[in-house]
Amino acid sequence: MADTDRKDLVAAARALDAAGHMPQKSGNLSLRTARGFVITPSGLPYAAMTEADLVECAADGAPLSNGRPSSEWRLHAAIFSARADAQAVVHTHSPRATALACARRGIPPLHYMITLAGAVGRAGIPCARHATFGTEALAQECVAALGEGLRATLLANHGVVALGASLAGAVALAREVENLAGQYLDLLAAGLKPVLLSKAELADAAAQLKGYGRPA
Ligand SMILES: [Zn+2]
Repeated sequence: MADTDRKDLVAAARALDAAGHMPQKSGNLSLRTARGFVITPSGLPYAAMTEADLVECAADGAPLSNGRPSSEWRLHAAIFSARADAQAVVHTHSPRATALACARRGIPPLHYMITLAGAVGRAGIPCARHATFGTEALAQECVAALGEGLRATLLANHGVVALGASLAGAVALAREVENLAGQYLDLLAAGLKPVLLSKAELADAAAQLKGYGRPA
């Protein structure tokens, strides 16, 4: 794994922490490697973390380097095993998405940006069934909620998981999930009911986003 990748992982963790998405040392990030994955360590403040603190694990989670991997390593291992399209996994406790997850509610397709999360249908981004943090049961509930095509889910009474074909993609998606959850909570607080995007509208938005940023 390139040193730049390790630097990017630490920088991404710090940026999410600075944005308030990782309260009290929560959350964790990982990147797939040839031997398994590299993950942020357990219980270290993000501000003090360096590339040397990252822990490389085999695909089954067995540590291949010094240090203690994040307590959610099972979650990351299970996603990399189930989803060949995942090159990076980001887990946060971002406040508004976590609030929604504490009501065991997902995010319906109220804004087209939800299509960043992949094959989103009318149900939107789901909320995975509850299981204790750090357990294989949680890892399996998360993988089940993601299915084959989703790149993000909420975890009941816990937080957010996002995956991506790149670290930047997974981080951007985790941030967007927080944004969408905030929009949904604002609507609910105002007593408004969102008008949900139809399947066809979601498909159009997904096609448009694919071309976004490319020269016309
Ligand atoms: Zn967590």
